Amino acid sequence: MTILTIRTVPDPILRRKSRAVREVDDAVRKLAHDMVATLHDAHGVGLAAPQVGELKRLVVLQLPEEDNPRILVNPEITRRDGERDVEEGCLSVPGYLGNIVRSERVKARAVSEWGAKIRLTAEQIFAQALEHEVDHLDGILYLDHLKSHEDLHEVGADDESEHEHDFAAEVEDEGLMKSRGEKRVLIAGNGSDGIAEIKGEVIVEATEQDLKRLSGG
Ligand SMILES: [Zn+2]
Repeated sequence: MTILTIRTVPDPILRRKSRAVREVDDAVRKLAHDMVATLHDAHGVGLAAPQVGELKRLVVLQLPEEDNPRILVNPEITRRDGERDVEEGCLSVPGYLGNIVRSERVKARAVSEWGAKIRLTAEQIFAQALEHEVDHLDGILYLDHLKSHEDLHEVGADDESEHEHDFAAEVEDEGLMKSRGEKRVLIAGNGSDGIAEIKGEVIVEATEQDLKRLSGG
């Protein structure tokens, strides 16, 4: 099995829609198993094919309480119930966590790696992971579910005021958009070119004043 490269923001492939898998063949199984190896290597809970550069509707999950990984081809969420506040991260958005709302319970259908139809009822982290990974297949990141910039924080940041300051500093130094030569605060959105179309605050070529305003100062 091969450890694949995980694409990270702002890689435009993360914003594209994946295509259904027509036939679950050896190539799909190989990709799925490589994705499982990659997921284990990264100590993640879930990974979707676009995160490794393949626009196929395929996700793998490794739930903490389960021994075996789950491979889901063409997963579809058919029902969502309840709401709960969760903290969420993504292997494609390293270094950040966000507070968002996910469903308490979901029902889903998918196809196994052997082509069998599967029906699933998921709760808690399983439901959260399913929603997160199926979102990836539609080019949606958890960042799109954030309600405000305060809901996103760097891993390791403590209190909120601290975080705002740190985050602004992050924008200046190593903003998520740096590879485009732009300075933005990436908090939400689902831009067609792979770059977030921000629902909240956008800063391109931030000035000191912008950063101060952002950090509430
Ligand atoms: Zn993710």
